[in-house]
Amino acid sequence: MTGADIVLEDVTVTFAGRAVPALDRVSVSVRAGEQLALVGPSGAGKSTLLRLLLGGVRPAGGRVRVGGLDPFATQQVRQLRQFTGYVRQRDDLVPGVSARTNILMGQSWSWRMPDWWAVARGRVPSRHAARLAELAEGHGITDILDERVENLSGGQRQRVALARALLGDPRLLLADETTSGLDPVNAARAVADLTSVEGATVMLSTHDVSLAGRFARVVALRAGRIAHDGAPPDARETELIYAHGS
Ligand code: ADP
Ligand code: MG
Repeated sequence: MTGADIVLEDVTVTFAGRAVPALDRVSVSVRAGEQLALVGPSGAGKSTLLRLLLGGVRPAGGRVRVGGLDPFATQQVRQLRQFTGYVRQRDDLVPGVSARTNILMGQSWSWRMPDWWAVARGRVPSRHAARLAELAEGHGITDILDERVENLSGGQRQRVALARALLGDPRLLLADETTSGLDPVNAARAVADLTSVEGATVMLSTHDVSLAGRFARVVALRAGRIAHDGAPPDARETELIYAHGS
């Protein structure tokens, strides 16, 4: 499987009622299979950039292509979302159903009737069984698969959301501050997991500079602009990126 390449050319996003654009003429190219960390102070535009890639935010100007697809064309964004694993900053797990069902639901677009029957009976469709077991084991959530997600801790919920994003072996993995609520051991494990999907393009937003340093490429946003793009920034550059917030 090959990753999806990403092209942003001169992209500007302006939210209604905001004087300052959330993204200001941002240009970034990511090769298929490349893995990078997206850093920057709160409000810098990290979440906006990730949402933009899946058509969740409409740009006022510029060009966006993901895996050659246009996220603002209905048919193309559907295709795009099918090969993308996305872990939102605030998780969107479905309350009232189990962690297992939540993890499976990310792949429901591909199900046929027998798969729906299996899930309705609390079973795992056979083609997802091995990978689900492996992910649950790797994330230490095997024993909470039957729990309703509203009974889980923040860290457990995050691991469930991560497992859901990984279940389909995505070509593109977008993770928005996925490590923020995790203790150091689980944060490191989450990064290891995110970066281990064969061939996938990976973007992880984080405000943890030392975690970002595990990536060969770090893109920094500051007040909606690219402030750095390349090898992890040194201490002086990091200070400039974060100086006075944004
Ligand atoms: P980050 O993820 O880096 O913290 P965001 O992308 O969430 O930053 O936000 C960038 C800027 O856009 C901030 O000023 C934020 O307040 C603003 N913003 C984000 N989402 C919305 C929205 N839905 N409506 C209005 N302003 C928004
Ligand atoms: Mg954010």
